[in-house]
Amino acid sequence: MISVAIDGPAGAGKSTLSRKAAKELGFIYVDTGALYRAVGLKFIRAGVDENLNCDIEKILADTKVDIRFIGGEQHVFLDDTDVNDEIRTPAASMMASAVSAKPEVRAFLLQMQRNLANENNVLMDGRDIGTVVLPNATVKIFLTASAEIRAERRYKELVEKGSEVTFEEVFEDMKKRDYNDSHRAVAPLKQADDAVLADTSALTFDESLALILSIVNERLGK
Ligand code: C5P
Repeated sequence: MISVAIDGPAGAGKSTLSRKAAKELGFIYVDTGALYRAVGLKFIRAGVDENLNCDIEKILADTKVDIRFIGGEQHVFLDDTDVNDEIRTPAASMMASAVSAKPEVRAFLLQMQRNLANENNVLMDGRDIGTVVLPNATVKIFLTASAEIRAERRYKELVEKGSEVTFEEVFEDMKKRDYNDSHRAVAPLKQADDAVLADTSALTFDESLALILSIVNERLGK
């Protein structure tokens, strides 16, 4: 099986680019952030806040997260309900970042991610795919862009969806998540030694996509 691991900070365009790249390659696209978001949603529903003063294991024991592919698109199910839209709110983003720092949560989601890569040609994106989940991935890419550019892109996306947020709020959230993601003790966001760095700050979407595909095809000898 071929696996492409794409890691990087929030808002680097990972999911949109990865989805498109996977389609071009004919691979399954696995958005692992959605799994952490689903777990985050569960904790929100359990009435827990970002400080996570709760029995994490107990909540996880009563949590079912799975991925189903509907029309070729990944849908995340929480306790047998499709939560694909609900996991995209700013509250779910922040909670995903909080729960993802917990080793119990990372362990809870690890095997599912590995199984998907064992059974399919995958393009998987996240924070620790090349470093922890698939250390032997065929191709590893670290996709990034400056924090301002990433916040700008995310802000536009949210406004298009009708969210009433300000750029400053999005930028602050972005910096907070960057900090949380790269400073946590377990599986922090960092470039794997053997990953290729792709900085899309100055690139359009099409140029970024072309860059990713050229890195993958070069590694695959195509
Ligand atoms: O990529 P996305 O923004 O949807 O991810 C939501 C959160 O889930 C991230 O801020 C990060 O904290 C966490 N995450 C993670 N490991 C992954 C994917 C996401 O810790 N592989």
